[in-house]
Amino acid sequence: MGLYVQKYGGTSVGSLERIQSIAHKITQYRQQGHDIVVVVSAMSGETNRLMQMATTIQKYPDPREMDVLVATGEQVTIALLSMALKEQGCEARSYTGSQVKILTNSVHTKARIKHIDVNLIQTDLSAGRVVIVAGFQGVDETGNITTLGRGGSDTTGVALAAALKADECQIYTDVNGVYTTDPRVVESARLLQTITFEEMLEMASLGSKVLQIRAVEFAGKYKVPLRVSHSFEEGLGTLITIENQEIMEQPVISSIAFNRDEAKLTIIGVPDIPGIASKILSPISDANIEVDMILQNISAEGMTDFTFTVHRNDFEHAKNILQQIARQLNATDIQGSKNIAKVSIIGVGMRSHAGIASTMFTALADESINIQMISTSEIKVSVVIAEKYLELAVRTLHSVFNLDQCQSVE
Ligand code: ADP
Ligand code: ASP
Ligand code: MG
Repeated sequence: MGLYVQKYGGTSVGSLERIQSIAHKITQYRQQGHDIVVVVSAMSGETNRLMQMATTIQKYPDPREMDVLVATGEQVTIALLSMALKEQGCEARSYTGSQVKILTNSVHTKARIKHIDVNLIQTDLSAGRVVIVAGFQGVDETGNITTLGRGGSDTTGVALAAALKADECQIYTDVNGVYTTDPRVVESARLLQTITFEEMLEMASLGSKVLQIRAVEFAGKYKVPLRVSHSFEEGLGTLITIENQEIMEQPVISSIAFNRDEAKLTIIGVPDIPGIASKILSPISDANIEVDMILQNISAEGMTDFTFTVHRNDFEHAKNILQQIARQLNATDIQGSKNIAKVSIIGVGMRSHAGIASTMFTALADESINIQMISTSEIKVSVVIAEKYLELAVRTLHSVFNLDQCQSVE
């Protein structure tokens, strides 16, 4: 008999009927003799609804209070699921992040898990109960409620699986597993039986919302077997593996990821001298704003332009900071755009194949899609393009890299 941590996402608990269906499924697992720890998200749309209320009251909501507010979403679903289980004769207990003691740092809205106390959970499991933990939330050293960033329930699931040394962490969602690209954008996207941690990490960091990046990092670090499957449909889903050994001939590109959540900022006419990047980016990172892609143009007459991307939610804040920096540096101008998107091709096979980036650039050029920024690593190439071309770019690249023909469980 195994110990499984099962995480159910927002759409999977999006109505009372769905919560009852999940309860039925969990009850069946219990009847087979497995120990089950469940992590749930808030009902779909609820976190957005709460955040909208916050911004109506306060333009830049206080992060501490934001966490107090958004953590309520998951508190509703844990209690309802626990009731549904009891109604079906299955003993269960629900806990908030703070009750379990999911200890995090104090970076509100983006907190990181430092430690999880498993005593309470283990006592319940020994007593034959299903344990239900609120995803996405924790508590800091001083007792403040914290949250782990959007999609953070995945991380709660994997972190609990690591702390409990579970046999598997099962992420149940609204698609059958991890596909070659978002199946909602490209119909011909193929379900992957397996994907390496390395590739999954790139996919998550490049915008595939199917798993939160921290969850993949945790799973890789603590070697947690991680599987993504559909909440209500049969199937083995996708297993995230250390190495994709079974497949002899790896496809060069295994997936296409994209991200519409970024915005671009450019500071024009700054001196091209040592320390300039630090002068521009340090105040941005001091404000806890993450910078993604960075581009510095070649200088003309000792002056240069500097472009970087941030999350769209941080755009106004970053722009305000950049305005102050521009005054200090006597910069000519500042430009910004929210109408951008990032498209990335990912594959460990890129290490041993040349010419992949140029195939990508040619395919985009053939569709008259202009590339605004480029960044590469050993196993990915990302480009920033105008948002209106995003779907065309993803479909084009999916077909150019023959993803229809890669491994499939179907
Ligand atoms: P949950 O609420 O269950 O956490 P999410 O919406 O966070 O679900 O993640 C699942 C969604 O991820 C899918 O509905 C799908 O649109 C999107 N997605 C993006 N890229 C992929 C991909 N490569 N494979 C599968 N799903 C993907
Ligand atoms: N409810 C949170 C969100 O919408 C966490 C999650 O669903 O994983 O981001
Ligand atoms: Mg999610």
